[in-house]
Amino acid sequence: MTVGIWVLGDQLWQHQAALASDPTASVILVESRQHSTERRYHRQKLVLVWSAMRHFAAELESAGRTVTYKIADDFAAPLRQWIKQQKITELRVMEPADRPFARFLSTLALPCPLTLVPNNHFLWSVDEFKQWADGRKRLLMESFYREGRKRYGVLMEGATPIGDQWNYDKENRKPPPKNKQQGINPPSPQWFNPDDITQQVMQTVAELDTFGNLEPFGWAVTRSQALHVLDYFINVRLATFGPYQDAMVTGEDTLWHALLSPYLNIGLLQPLEVIQAAETAYKQQNLPLNSVEGFIRQVLGWREYMRGLYSYVDEDYPQGNYFNHQHPLPDFFWTGDTPMNCLHQSIDQAKRTGYNHHIQRLMILSNFALIAGLSPQAVEAWFHAAFIDAYDWVMQTNVIGMGLFADGGTLATKPYAASANYVNRMSDYCKGCHYNPKTRTGERACPFNFFYWDFLARHRDILQSQGRMNFILRNLDKMSMEEYAAIRDNAREWHAQQPS
Ligand SMILES: Cc1cc2nc3c(=O)[nH]c(=O)nc-3n(C[C@H](O)[C@H](O)[C@H](O)COP(=O)(O)OP(=O)(O)OC[C@H]3O[C@@H](n4cnc5c(N)ncnc54)[C@H](O)[C@@H]3O)c2cc1C
Ligand code: SF4
Repeated sequence: MTVGIWVLGDQLWQHQAALASDPTASVILVESRQHSTERRYHRQKLVLVWSAMRHFAAELESAGRTVTYKIADDFAAPLRQWIKQQKITELRVMEPADRPFARFLSTLALPCPLTLVPNNHFLWSVDEFKQWADGRKRLLMESFYREGRKRYGVLMEGATPIGDQWNYDKENRKPPPKNKQQGINPPSPQWFNPDDITQQVMQTVAELDTFGNLEPFGWAVTRSQALHVLDYFINVRLATFGPYQDAMVTGEDTLWHALLSPYLNIGLLQPLEVIQAAETAYKQQNLPLNSVEGFIRQVLGWREYMRGLYSYVDEDYPQGNYFNHQHPLPDFFWTGDTPMNCLHQSIDQAKRTGYNHHIQRLMILSNFALIAGLSPQAVEAWFHAAFIDAYDWVMQTNVIGMGLFADGGTLATKPYAASANYVNRMSDYCKGCHYNPKTRTGERACPFNFFYWDFLARHRDILQSQGRMNFILRNLDKMSMEEYAAIRDNAREWHAQQPS
């Protein structure tokens, strides 16, 4: 038997399960140009993945593997050729994290059998998540997270959470100080100059017709660079990660966020080493528990939960449209050209960097899409194009589930819908905006306000049946018919004015 191993672009770890299954087998990596045009991808994402693949191929070779690297239109032709040339009798691939790619693999007509090796890029296996989820009434992230803390012994003293509390979220929702001089001074992120390999990839990507700026490109493309980013985060940013986790500040693209998702999602970093690095720093450097727990909750809790849920729900989950929202995506999502300053800032940043932090994604971009009634599938396609860390497994549950409540509450207990009040409290965006965050009708009324109240009114019955929004629905009931009619008119006019 001659085994060959095909390493996918998001499986770049020397100990990933397929590589570990046969330490001497030959390896192939394929850059498919056709695959990269099936949907829009951010230019910097294409550079990141292709450059990281080329670097990884070189690392495998240095480690003694025989490696073939192919740049081709599709995957099938180079695979068939390689299998025949190398006389391979079994092709092994680590199970793809993304379901569409797993389905694609089953359509490949190859000259030898293809074996899928269970994916070891996540802490929880698909089966373990299923065992946890089966029979539960609600799949709450908080219960899953606590189970993860116990199972992996993270921030625990025996059976008790360190500090006697599981969750420090209340300490982690500080608005930004009113002016920067009052203390918000985050350290610059860790960027890298593109080396020769990255520059070659950039030349290729420059010719592709897709979304986002190509330069400046500063992302890590090797494991050693990614470890450097992790180290920098732990030693320089983590202590202050917690308090301003939800804040948004003009000109501060990343604040104290980790910037680790692009690397975790392609295998340059592994979740357990990231969690352990944070826990060790807590113990050795006496870092604040609210920051360390807040960060560990993201990786051990949210990230694992999102992937587990993705693998657990039905295949038609991505088609969810609980509120039957049908409006097309406004063109400004691609240009950033809108007088709504919060959206302008967030979209412009996504174009420049391929990155927004969590609250920009949740409370600006998807919140707007939810309350304005945009089609969930159009919104998901945009998110997939806009972000450097976007993959089907992480996108569907975050956008369809968390951001848009299009799954009807499988994931979230209530929709993340908010008016300008939230944006004004948690950011400085409203200061520089054409619209007035305090008004909900009239010429300068903030669209987040009239869409928010229109959303509540349009879906009043459904929201009431959810039972978690009764307080705010009572405020809706106090609104006069005249005011509601004006809100409705504003919302309709806004949609009518969008170029089709
Ligand atoms: C609408 C929407 C779309 C999103 N799209 C993506 C996406 O395409 N890819 C992606 O990796 N994350 C996505 N997220 C989750 C989260 O916003 C990003 O992981 C995070 O902003 C990445 O930046 P960071 O590394 O600086 O994260 P930090 O804020 O510093 O968090 C640390 C790490 O926790 C993990 N994490 C935190 N929250 C989540 C979550 N909800 N799902 C998965 N991992 C999480 C990430 O690996 C992240 O690197 C999305 C969230 C929302 C609400
Ligand atoms: S006023 Fe409204 S549109 Fe303008 S930044 Fe604030 S929330 Fe966004």
